[in-house]
Amino acid sequence: MNHPILLNGSILSQQKNEELKKILSNYPTLSLATILVGDDKASHIYVQAKIKACQSVGINPVPIFLSKDTTEQELLEQIELLNNDPAIDGILVQLPLPKHLDSYKVLESINPKKDVDCFHPFNMGNLSTGISNFAPATSTGIMMLLDSIKDQWSLESKNVVVVGASNIVGKPTAMLLLQKEATITIAHKKTKNLKELCLTADLIIVAVGKANLITKDMVKKGAVVIDVGMNRIQTEQGTKLVGDVDFENVKDLTFAITPVPKGVGPMTISALLHNLYFLYQHYHTKNNNDLR
Ligand code: NAP
Repeated sequence: MNHPILLNGSILSQQKNEELKKILSNYPTLSLATILVGDDKASHIYVQAKIKACQSVGINPVPIFLSKDTTEQELLEQIELLNNDPAIDGILVQLPLPKHLDSYKVLESINPKKDVDCFHPFNMGNLSTGISNFAPATSTGIMMLLDSIKDQWSLESKNVVVVGASNIVGKPTAMLLLQKEATITIAHKKTKNLKELCLTADLIIVAVGKANLITKDMVKKGAVVIDVGMNRIQTEQGTKLVGDVDFENVKDLTFAITPVPKGVGPMTISALLHNLYFLYQHYHTKNNNDLR
């Protein structure tokens, strides 16, 4: 195997989607409701991508578009309808919500058994206690990428630095890595010695949203680097999507690295579809009421 290994999320997500499509063909069609409030352009693009991905594996997408003036009460009522609708297997509220809506309250109103994003405190709690490895899609997608090199590189006892401590990426990813018996440091805005910390890492996972945050002087030779960041930068050729890692200068130092685009991004959508299947399997085929 030549190094660095390029962890190509476009190829892996296609494989994962094909596997899932085969599995799902044995079950009744699952339905995923996606609520989008307002006109945010990027959110519309993400929702369209999720709809397309659902269709590609035989999941029935149920998009619900609400105006930007939707009140919290109206949104909570819509979620309650979906919670009680036996034809709906998963519910997703596209973030960010308009400022007048309380995201925490909204996410908490989703039935945890339909919480395909795994943002509900019940599901996050189970992840944190190690009872479950059901996790937010980006974290699950990262684990799929790491799993794809498990024959050459194992997480056990590795030193990991997760840069970024958000509830949707950094923290849940750290919890999944802990379940794999790695040793985790979570860095954030106030972390003082980021470079020194990163230099101790066998694995760096960066989810910040700052182009070129991780440069080659911060990466140990032979480390694995997972870049979650998505930043649009201006170049002479127009705008370009880049991650948080200075990919061109870092890649040759690494054992394996994700590009941006075609790295973590496509895995996130694939993992979301897998999350829907997880919920279905867990609550319908095992007749189980907890997430063990
Ligand atoms: P977020 O909620 O804004 O969190 C960013 C985190 O980075 C926070 O914990 C923040 O620290 C930390 N941070 C900010 N500046 C830092 C610095 N200089 N050094 C170290 N840590 C720093 O962002 P997010 O939602 O997790 O997203 C992060 C990035 O990943 C964004 O570019 C987003 O677009 C991308 N993303 C990609 C995918 C995908 O599928 N590829 C999915 C989700 C997100 P504090 O906690 O101290 O504020």
